[in-house]
Amino acid sequence: MSDALFPADYLEARDRYRAFMDEHIYPSEAAIEREDDDSFLLLDELRDRARAEGLWAPHVPPEAGGTGLGFLYYACLNEEIGRSLYAQLVFGCQAPDAGNAEILHLFGTEAQKEQFLRPLVAGEVRSFFAMTEPDVAGSDPTLLRTRAVRDGDDWVIDGHKWFSSGADGAGFAIVFAITDPEAEQHRRGTMLLVPADAAGVEIVRSVPVMGHAGRGWNTHCEVRFEGVRVSVENVLGGEGEAFRLAQKRLGPGRIHHVMRWLGQMQRAFELMCRYANEREAFGGPLAEKQTVQNWVADSAAEIQACRLLTMDAARKIDEGSEARVEVSLLKFYAANALVQVIDRAIQVHGARGLTDETPLAQMALHARAARIYDGPDEVHRMVVARRILKSFRDGDGWSFAD
Ligand SMILES: Cc1cc2nc3c(=O)[nH]c(=O)nc-3n(C[C@H](O)[C@H](O)[C@H](O)COP(=O)(O)OP(=O)(O)OC[C@H]3O[C@@H](n4cnc5c(N)ncnc54)[C@H](O)[C@@H]3O)c2cc1C
Repeated sequence: MSDALFPADYLEARDRYRAFMDEHIYPSEAAIEREDDDSFLLLDELRDRARAEGLWAPHVPPEAGGTGLGFLYYACLNEEIGRSLYAQLVFGCQAPDAGNAEILHLFGTEAQKEQFLRPLVAGEVRSFFAMTEPDVAGSDPTLLRTRAVRDGDDWVIDGHKWFSSGADGAGFAIVFAITDPEAEQHRRGTMLLVPADAAGVEIVRSVPVMGHAGRGWNTHCEVRFEGVRVSVENVLGGEGEAFRLAQKRLGPGRIHHVMRWLGQMQRAFELMCRYANEREAFGGPLAEKQTVQNWVADSAAEIQACRLLTMDAARKIDEGSEARVEVSLLKFYAANALVQVIDRAIQVHGARGLTDETPLAQMALHARAARIYDGPDEVHRMVVARRILKSFRDGDGWSFAD
């Protein structure tokens, strides 16, 4: 896709992020991956350097403490940042903090911004987003059971969450709780800001994911809330607004995910093409085998399709549309392309593809989750099909040109 389609201020910033990643992030990946004390010190150093170079917190604008220049700017930037699994952390825009900061910026009161947003964007604390529960299907949030009951000027929360990413060592949570079970289905939930040290918050364990329990930012925790009291001042965006806020957070968030996946796909693709040209078997380079050529061609087509789908959905969101169909079809299509492209790159590398000599094995490990988090493939396919079929029933058909 031509660079002309990207915002001009993004293109200027891209060169600076690219240079920083070449110089500081790629050479540090192996050390960061070890997740020992030294790796955390190294991360701190890199984060300080990113701040000093004006590359900090590109997901929020300067008035919120960041360096961002709007939704499209940050969406595009994720394609660069996404090439390394650790760059989000270095630039202070890691999930779920980035999404949490965005909704705090959009919907927080001045007091909430001072107490929660300012230290979050400054990197003084981390946060988690507690929505998914082990006992009910996360795909269907109308089933959520965590309850908050009003008692005077407080809400009292009881519930059981898991897959709270980054909860280990976080300073606060945004908790999705049912506050009015009698209300219309999508008005039942409220988001509450909960300090992690509030009485009754228990981080039960970091749930190992594909054999990896992680540490700090790289955890997915089981969390219990038992009689946790927060003031009514801690309601984020209004009572009964949780579904609307979740949608506001997830739509743009999915664009950011896919742009990062595009960064991963392109890195895997480059490794695959280079290795296919170098490695020889049965009388010539792998690049001359038609199966390998098919993998290269299919991957190129999928990557380009994902880029165009992403830019289309991002522009519609930027123009104020929710772009529900565009975002959902992009989410499941890109998650599968991501898994496929990385898998082909591993296959071309043979056994080396499974070692730590390339980033591919780590990339594959993280990629598989993409087909599940922020809505499994099947749910996004359902959203796409239902909306298109309804449009046909209503007599409007479906135009790909709009
Ligand atoms: C790495 C990772 C990080 C995460 N981080 C967070 C976080 O920070 N905070 C948070 O709250 N949650 C987080 N999640 C949870 C995530 O959002 C949920 O896993 C997701 O919403 C799916 O819910 P579930 O796991 O309960 O699966 P379920 O809803 O139980 O679904 C199980 C399977 O059922 C099938 N299915 C569901 N609905 C349909 C349908 N309509 N048609 C056909 N098949 C269907 C799908 O194949 C689906 O995979 C994270 C998950 C992962 C993997």
